[in-house]
Amino acid sequence: MTEPQHDPNCIFCKIIAGQIPSKKVYEDEHVFAFHDIHPWAPVHFLLVPKLHIPSMAQTGPEQQALLGHMMVLAPKLAQEQGCEPYPEGGFRIVVNTGTHGGQEVHHLHMHVIGGPRPWLKG
Ligand code: 5GP
Ligand code: ZN
Repeated sequence: MTEPQHDPNCIFCKIIAGQIPSKKVYEDEHVFAFHDIHPWAPVHFLLVPKLHIPSMAQTGPEQQALLGHMMVLAPKLAQEQGCEPYPEGGFRIVVNTGTHGGQEVHHLHMHVIGGPRPWLKG
């Protein structure tokens, strides 16, 4: 069975659809990025596919282009959001997966975290 495109009960699907307000960072045909509501650091946004994929554990070869797109986009958005250049600056990309991985929202997302330390977490 194929995954549903959107989950009506999913908070990130609702954010993508504009049903729940968010502070948008970026949007294109495939992905949406918005500021985390509880930032750990001066820069903290979430980059999510528009397609409802529950987690990294549900990805396969058919998501290769999407995941590549997200990985290449993250550094560009990080810099636009104020992360200082590598190597003195930089950022952290985190993809929590499953309960043991600390995932709370079950719609695949990349945390992109950066800015001067100290940070609240991470
Ligand atoms: P996870 O623990 O699943 O990797 O991270 C979920 C993240 O989503 C958390 O950092 C949390 O602060 C963020 N989050 C949860 N609900 C909302 C919301 O309604 N709006 C925004 N902007 N972020 C949210
Ligand atoms: Zn979703």
